[in-house]
Amino acid sequence: MKDPYQNAVQQLQDIAKIISLENWILELLSKVERFVEVSFPVVMDNGSFRTFTGYRSQHSNARGPYKGGLRFSPDVNEAEVKALSMWMSWKCAIAGIPYGGGKGGVTVDTKKLSEKEIERLSRNYIRAIWEIIGPETDIPAPDMYTNSQTMAWMADEYSKIVGQWTPAVITAKPLELGGSQGRVEATGLGGFYILEQLAQSQGITPSKTSITIQGFGNVGYFFAKFAHEAGYKIIAISDSKGGIFNEKGIDITKANKYKNEHKTFKGYKDAEEISNEDLLMLDTNILVPSAVENVITEKNAKKIKTGYIIELANGPVTPEADKILLSNNIVSVPDVLANAGGVIVSYFEWTQNRKGEHWSKQEVFKKLKSKMCEAYKHVNQLTKKYNKDMRTGAYAFAVSRVSDAIKSRL
Ligand code: NAD
Repeated sequence: MKDPYQNAVQQLQDIAKIISLENWILELLSKVERFVEVSFPVVMDNGSFRTFTGYRSQHSNARGPYKGGLRFSPDVNEAEVKALSMWMSWKCAIAGIPYGGGKGGVTVDTKKLSEKEIERLSRNYIRAIWEIIGPETDIPAPDMYTNSQTMAWMADEYSKIVGQWTPAVITAKPLELGGSQGRVEATGLGGFYILEQLAQSQGITPSKTSITIQGFGNVGYFFAKFAHEAGYKIIAISDSKGGIFNEKGIDITKANKYKNEHKTFKGYKDAEEISNEDLLMLDTNILVPSAVENVITEKNAKKIKTGYIIELANGPVTPEADKILLSNNIVSVPDVLANAGGVIVSYFEWTQNRKGEHWSKQEVFKKLKSKMCEAYKHVNQLTKKYNKDMRTGAYAFAVSRVSDAIKSRL
């Protein structure tokens, strides 16, 4: 199997042929503009020291400052971070927000660290990369296993280094530190707005539609919550340890309460246990991968029994698997469109910080809906223009926009 960066480059090469992208632009966009690997020590609670490796990848700033999350996970590596930074360039272009693509992370299992150790790790990572980030240059945000608290420590550390409070250097901060209303819900809710658009265009009725969701973190949970409230039947959910399944539907509020109390779905009474592999094979109307990349591959794609896939995780489907899904007439809404809600509200937060404003949750949700619907419309137009699948439409739109920005600067 190819690594995520090879997959990302392959996707770009495929689209370059379709939109007749100039060779030099293809070459430029196949690489990241800057990649930084850092090593830094952290003192553990018992007084010992450990050395950690972190990364920041800056793919393209043709459309504005680099923008993208920070991931704390044992799987974080160069190829993953580079791929994710490229996908951020496409996502920001599709979302119509003035940013380029960036991504970063630290290779670490935060489950094995205390809160204080995570704080020191977060602060020391910022000390290692502060020179290449800033409100006008590169604006990080959370991703897997980082959250608003991590962002608060990082914004505080950056501000101490530069000698002034600089909230716009990082987004998805807590409300009291200049975070935006609605940022927590943003990615899941944005995905739900896409579901609404899809339902409208495909004649999908919520009460007659089953949904399977892999991953029940920030993104998976909020998508599940809004879909459940809209009357969809969520038949399966999961976390990294496995999931639960009930063909009659799962009460999301109850399941979430159980998961928060027990830190696992194991032992949940109103559904049967299911592995993450089997969950993907369930007979379901809509499948929503919301955890990690490369979960649908050429090995399992043939066995996927669904009509639609909404990619809320980044890169959950490999290019090989994508071809198989297409040949089985499965409609996929690509990640670069489906999960753009988070970065859109991050942009709203950055705008509010720079203007010294505070927008209400209703205002944020209204603006988010409008941006998601606009992005969906643009992607659909290009999908029709090239008579291809939605991923092709999305990439055609995104890469053309980035390419136009590059050429406008010449
Ligand atoms: P999170 O850490 O809050 O949740 C991740 C969830 O996935 C957890 O439930 C975890 O237990 C589960 N998980 C981890 N490994 C798994 C595996 N191998 N199989 C099944 N489940 C697994 O992270 P999140 O913020 O919800 O992000 C989820 C995905 O969405 C990631 O791909 C991320 O890049 C993408 N994303 C997040 C945002 C955002 O705003 N948070 C925005 C855009 C895209």
